[in-house]
Amino acid sequence: MSALANNYNRRKISFKNGKGSFLYSTSGKKYLDFVQGIAVNSLGHANPHLIKAIIKQSKKLWHVSNAFIIPEGEKLAQRLTKKTFADYVIFQNSGAEATEAAIKVARRYFYTIGKPKKNRILCVKNSFHGRTLATIYASGSKKMTEGFGPKVDGFDHFEFGNHEALKKSITNKTAAIMVETVMGEGGIKVIPDWCLKGLRKICDKKKILLILDEVQCGIGRSGNFFAFESSKIKPDIVPIAKGIGGGFPLGAVLMNKRVASGMTAGTHGSTFGGNPLAMSVGNAVLDQIFEKGFLNNVKKLSKYFHIELNKLKKEFPKVIKEIRGVGLLIGLQLHYDQTKFIQKLIDNNLLTIRAGENVIRILPPLNVKKQEIDLAIKIIKKVCLNCNSK
Ligand SMILES: *Cc1c(COP(=O)(O)O)cnc(C)c1O
Repeated sequence: MSALANNYNRRKISFKNGKGSFLYSTSGKKYLDFVQGIAVNSLGHANPHLIKAIIKQSKKLWHVSNAFIIPEGEKLAQRLTKKTFADYVIFQNSGAEATEAAIKVARRYFYTIGKPKKNRILCVKNSFHGRTLATIYASGSKKMTEGFGPKVDGFDHFEFGNHEALKKSITNKTAAIMVETVMGEGGIKVIPDWCLKGLRKICDKKKILLILDEVQCGIGRSGNFFAFESSKIKPDIVPIAKGIGGGFPLGAVLMNKRVASGMTAGTHGSTFGGNPLAMSVGNAVLDQIFEKGFLNNVKKLSKYFHIELNKLKKEFPKVIKEIRGVGLLIGLQLHYDQTKFIQKLIDNNLLTIRAGENVIRILPPLNVKKQEIDLAIKIIKKVCLNCNSK
């Protein structure tokens, strides 16, 4: 009997160790892990560079309060701002904390410029921004909010892709539009570049802020450091988490100088956020992702993966409906039952994870090898053949 509450439907598999793209189960099986902790282990399991960094730091200093200057955090913030739109960073421990901090930064900015009533956040219906009280109401999803009332006020919603509804939903109380650049949990739905440009234009025209949630799609997963970069726009606030810690709990909110002006001493804080251990791991993750050619390789390999998956879609039109996503954030939308398909993949030693709209999420580590993609394709093909024969 488990003493863990039942808030997860857990699969009856446990792992004793991992290496790169592979996981080894306690029952002696080897799995190709294309879940990677849901886009968290961006550099695979047991990455030697990350191990070295965490051992080195853990022998020196784990934690000190943010009441003191933490050089490892100064360094990580410098590197994040130097490479991106951002001027300032606040470190947190998770994605939900990062998106919630993003909401706070937006509201505080309008408060600071004398418009405290401009405090509502406009989000996509059935999006995903985390599981805190505020972020579940940001998602506008009945499934996530049911039973957790009273409702946290301050969020409005529009349907993904409905530009007219979006424009109509903006009022003089709207402070910001917050969207996932690529909807992850919702089914790997990419906001195309022309829409991102349109979003930026609307925000400029209405003098509101643009928050792009890159918790899942950021940190190299798209083939660019941020998924929005291909559109050439600059958001105002970007929450990140998942991939930046490579498996260590780490989140952050990035912002430009203008909105950062509201975040004066005492306005926000975190006991754990930005501690030396987390910061050292974050820096080690960036060492590899910022390495010359790393992101180009993600682009190259993901292009190959998408081409091969589209071939399978052509070969099995009754099983695969659509290949979605960008870079190594890939969705297979199925005609076939999602749960059964995932189980069949597991039976063939490939781990994937569900997303909305009957989509199977495929999230290899960013340093995946071509042979590992070939192995995944081979397994997916075998499962498609099996589905076809029924
Ligand atoms: C996972 C996720 C979050 C929440 O992150 P947690 O670390 O689980 O709190 C927020 N936004 C997006 C887009 C995510 O994918």
